[in-house]
Amino acid sequence: MKKPKYVFVTGGVTSSLGKGIIAASLARLLQARGYSVTIQKLDPYINVDPGTLNPYEHGECYVTEDGAETDLDLGHYERFLNVPTSQANNVTTGRIYLTVIENERRGQYLGKTVQVIPHITDEIKRRIRLLGESGDYDIIITEIGGTVGDIESQPYIEAVRQMKWELGSEDSLVIHLTLVPYLAAAGELKTKPTQHSVKSLLEIGVQPDVLVCRTEKPLNAEVRRKLALFCNVTPNAVIESMDVKTIYEVPLVMEKEKLDKVVLSKLKLSSKTEPDLSVWKDFLFKLSHPKAEVNIALVGKYVELPDAYKSINEAFIHAGAANQCKVNVQSVHSEYLSAANAAEKLAGFDGILVAPGFGSRGIEGKLEAVRFARENKIPFFGICLGMQCAVIEFARNVLHINDAHSSEMDQGTSAPVIDLMEGQKEITQMGGTMRLGAYDCQLQKGSLALKAYGKQNISERHRHRYEFNNQYREAFEAAGMFLSGINPKTGLGEIVEVSGHPWFVGVQFHPELKSTVENPHPLFVRFIKAAMERK
Ligand code: GLN
Repeated sequence: MKKPKYVFVTGGVTSSLGKGIIAASLARLLQARGYSVTIQKLDPYINVDPGTLNPYEHGECYVTEDGAETDLDLGHYERFLNVPTSQANNVTTGRIYLTVIENERRGQYLGKTVQVIPHITDEIKRRIRLLGESGDYDIIITEIGGTVGDIESQPYIEAVRQMKWELGSEDSLVIHLTLVPYLAAAGELKTKPTQHSVKSLLEIGVQPDVLVCRTEKPLNAEVRRKLALFCNVTPNAVIESMDVKTIYEVPLVMEKEKLDKVVLSKLKLSSKTEPDLSVWKDFLFKLSHPKAEVNIALVGKYVELPDAYKSINEAFIHAGAANQCKVNVQSVHSEYLSAANAAEKLAGFDGILVAPGFGSRGIEGKLEAVRFARENKIPFFGICLGMQCAVIEFARNVLHINDAHSSEMDQGTSAPVIDLMEGQKEITQMGGTMRLGAYDCQLQKGSLALKAYGKQNISERHRHRYEFNNQYREAFEAAGMFLSGINPKTGLGEIVEVSGHPWFVGVQFHPELKSTVENPHPLFVRFIKAAMERK
């Protein structure tokens, strides 16, 4: 049974400084020294989970093994640490309030006035401590979403203040991530915004122990001294975080700046064993020394916002490194893709991926992308809605069922080759009701999938309501599209392939969610390999 120590990560000056990457990098360094670490994200919005959010809002919704719909930062945590997260790793203000209000309705507060302090802050603290109860972790890193000074973040910062007081300085520590801007006109780095954001933290009673400073230029000794003096931290606790080419370099940059050592010494933990980062460094070497190059089209409707397909883009980076191949992923907007321009817009790609999604916008463009890939024998990878599009396209253009569709897009179709799952028919609530989380899948002999995974029984994560309609299975298989992965319990079709095509794989699940630096996903690795072979 381990008694965890807590590291809190807050952000100041501006959003988008990359708290998630800093938290994940620190966690990776501590893990590399033999500590068992997990990371938690507290999100200050009122949605109970990001499952009901449009990807344009905060990017993709990341799904964990236990079926929690969570913030995309959890994806970074898993990609960096190579250990699964769960619902306990992501808590939103909505979830906190929902619990408190449900408790109140049950009469749990015995007639008391229910208030932000202590009821909301107590529930926040309970959620922070919950992860530690397993006894599995030496260190728990809790990232507070938002920026210090936001109204929404205040109860979280107050909870951090209380926890620091309860735990004491050897068992808790606050890292404040901040921006040190460079003013070209003055030719200087400016420390004032950082001083002000530390001041806002102090107003709530939190003194940060470590400053991680995002900067375009190196912090000189004078700037470091100023930051330490005016923000009241030890000089070794001013950590420079310069912009780097890839997020995967950040752990090495933080190691150089001794972030892990400073944290360990403040928490009175030993830093004797040097971090073992050999696999990580090998990955970075391959990433920066490619021997080949491929162009991949990412066909989707949320392409304006790269975060909408975060895990897919990261999985391509892992798979690229595994093949020592530079993967140029280019977005193709499905809304502007048609039979008339598909050949022109998709010319020159070595592989085509059709992305997940919801609703009918851009669907005809996705079908054209599938058709182009299938007919021209270009490696094709369809994920979730992308797999469903592969099925619809095959029904229309090979089986000649012109009306074939998914009942999501056309409720009245006479040929619902993709149809609502039985369990979904009675559902009226939108939040948290999809088929979510890990499900088993059995791979068929002779399939590309079996070749990629190298084993027959796999498990992958899901997030969808619709599925392949097994009534059509025989007709599809007779014409060359077969189910190469099947859920052994329910018989649901999880993977489709097309015989006679070099690499055509559609998956109902989300393989991108399980790709990590140390375990690049086998389907992405094979897809890139197929693209390299085509080239
Ligand atoms: N909209 C489809 C469904 O609900 C696909 C979902 C997805 O791509 N994640 O089944």
